[in-house]
Amino acid sequence: MYLFKRKDDLRRFLTSAREKGATTGFVPTMGALHQGHLSLIHRARQECSLVVCSIFVNPTQFNDPADFEKYPITIEKDIQLLTATGADALLLPSVAEMYPEGPGTPGPRYDFGELETVLEGRYRPGHFQGVGRIVHKLLDIVQPQRLFMGQKDLQQCLVVKHLLKLIGSPAEMIICPTLREPDGLAMSSRNMRLGPAERNNAVALYKALCYVRDHLGGPTSLPEVVAAARLQLQSAKFDIDYLDVIAVREDGAVLFPQAPVSGLPMYAVVAASMKGSPVRLIDNLLMNG
Ligand code: AMP
Repeated sequence: MYLFKRKDDLRRFLTSAREKGATTGFVPTMGALHQGHLSLIHRARQECSLVVCSIFVNPTQFNDPADFEKYPITIEKDIQLLTATGADALLLPSVAEMYPEGPGTPGPRYDFGELETVLEGRYRPGHFQGVGRIVHKLLDIVQPQRLFMGQKDLQQCLVVKHLLKLIGSPAEMIICPTLREPDGLAMSSRNMRLGPAERNNAVALYKALCYVRDHLGGPTSLPEVVAAARLQLQSAKFDIDYLDVIAVREDGAVLFPQAPVSGLPMYAVVAASMKGSPVRLIDNLLMNG
């Protein structure tokens, strides 16, 4: 695997590979890699002749400075995992390399519509502008044919799909399924920050989503099912930012239906942290189809 710290070196490498007919698949990450990340590399490996990964903990998408400070970093192990998984190139830039203008300098303003004010957008103001800013920069460098992202960050996928349209990128977005631990907890770099008791308890998040899935469409109304799932999660000592059922329209818009809808994918979505824990976890589960 080739390791690039400078974007211009990667650009030159990719130009030459493209001239030789390579199809580029791109997997952007913030590192602290786990099997979920590697599943995206595997998928890209199957579909593309050149697999590029990036590891960059992007300061502009952290609305909480403490979350940024504490974000786990395991670069040596990440490089080994990527090499073993068959990535061809890794971009590992510094903050100055990605933000020569300075990360504190205001960037472009992207119009993501309501996606920016609901769910994650509501609880993490500015987060998706930061995501848009870094993904835009990375796409400019890598110019992939395919972009591989995880359903684990569903709203991020919707925002980036929107971004591709806004910036006229021809990249095709491939949304990959969420990989889970054996007990059902969605794999996440942030899980590393959970103590053993918290880690055991964290499965309550997945159980709440399963509860919604298993009861939706039955005799209990959607709002009542969601209310019961919220109670379950609160009994497991979680503070909930949101636990909702959404439907996603073809154009990426998010709806909050009061009853199951047919013809649109519906997801239960959750963001919560355990009482006294600074670690905020998110997850979602497809309810239909
Ligand atoms: P991150 O490093 O958290 O920014 O994630 C990088 C990419 O990996 C994003 O597209 C995530 O949605 C995806 N990802 C994170 N966790 C998982 C998981 N458990 N299963 C599949 N993809 C994931």
